[in-house]
Amino acid sequence: MTLETKRALKPATELVHGGTMRSSFGETSEALYLTQGFVYDSSEAAEARFKGDEPGFIYSRYANPTVDMFEKRMCQLEGAEDARAMASGMAAVSAALLCSVKAGDHVVAARALFGSCRWVIETLMPRYGIETTLVDGTSLDAWQAAVRPNTKLFFLESPTNPTLEVIDIAAVAGIANAAGARVVVDNVFATPLQQKPLELGAHIVVYSATKHIDGQGRCLGGVVLSDKEWIDKHLHDYFRHTGPSLSPFNAWTMLKGLETLPLRVKQQTESAGRVAGHLACHPKVERVIYPGRNDHPQADIIARQMKGGSTLVCFELKGGKKAAFGTQNALEVIRISNNLGDAKSLITHPATTTHKNLTDEARAELGINPGTVRLSVGLEDADDLIADLDQALDRAG
Ligand SMILES: *Cc1c(COP(=O)(O)O)cnc(C)c1O
Repeated sequence: MTLETKRALKPATELVHGGTMRSSFGETSEALYLTQGFVYDSSEAAEARFKGDEPGFIYSRYANPTVDMFEKRMCQLEGAEDARAMASGMAAVSAALLCSVKAGDHVVAARALFGSCRWVIETLMPRYGIETTLVDGTSLDAWQAAVRPNTKLFFLESPTNPTLEVIDIAAVAGIANAAGARVVVDNVFATPLQQKPLELGAHIVVYSATKHIDGQGRCLGGVVLSDKEWIDKHLHDYFRHTGPSLSPFNAWTMLKGLETLPLRVKQQTESAGRVAGHLACHPKVERVIYPGRNDHPQADIIARQMKGGSTLVCFELKGGKKAAFGTQNALEVIRISNNLGDAKSLITHPATTTHKNLTDEARAELGINPGTVRLSVGLEDADDLIADLDQALDRAG
């Protein structure tokens, strides 16, 4: 069954072995249980399983052995009591938010959010009578001022997409606790290795496993992690009956992704730091924002709250949209794509893609300018990435 040792294991070890359930064949690699359902030896056995008197699987919308292994491995990595894997990051975010509140409740969220998360907060939740307020997440006064008697939930991501601003999670959790609200953190950009929101006082952590956890651009996936009591009381029934479950095949891919997560994140962070340092000295670059550089606006919070920098770099080109498009189009190794956390380096122009639905004013508030680009650094040699950016910046005129 699971790894048999009483010693506390380091994350790299847990990510290779954690949660493994071997079948009677003794396979080395985690088995892929590609099945919708499960059969019972007798009517009595089926009855006992439905009553919860006997452990075992019932239907893959509820739980599946391969998905279970992925959830257990994620729990070990995050230090969480329980988890539910989901079909995408947005299924995970929506589940974490929607099953925490009801009509008449109030949600406070940082305004710098992944586009679809912002839509759920700003557009979807109010349709069901849930009040929402967006605040500047870096301002503790703004969080405090937004609290109402019916505030039940805080939601934030840090570092944010795409401008990599960092929110003081422990301080925000302090304000939430005093208000009797739960804190949900979307920890995608930090990865579970660089930041531990539960240790900082958050109650629920969500991931798009599509990003670094797969890390090789193959499958969509997501996961919600929290304490057992919250999952049993709030998420369990929502999850079973609304059906955001992760496919066993995708869970298997994610399990294999977790094995190499520390190696990939370490290498990609190191390369991103080098790329950021190089870009900061380039005459065509107005500004570089990289968590891990001393000139990051929240460098002091990063030092307290994160174990490493980021695999992403945000930078602003002199010459606005024309310079941004020209540079992106001239790249030969780095590809244009809205995705991130991949083995392949990917560059995005947020103002015309991921954040095109915001008003000019909302974009300006978030620091997304016409010359802003976001680079997700992959596993290529950093020398090649720097050379590619140099030739593209040259050719962009
Ligand atoms: C990608 C992403 C999501 C959504 O994940 P999907 O797997 O694409 O549904 C949510 N939050 C953040 C921060 C992301 O980067």
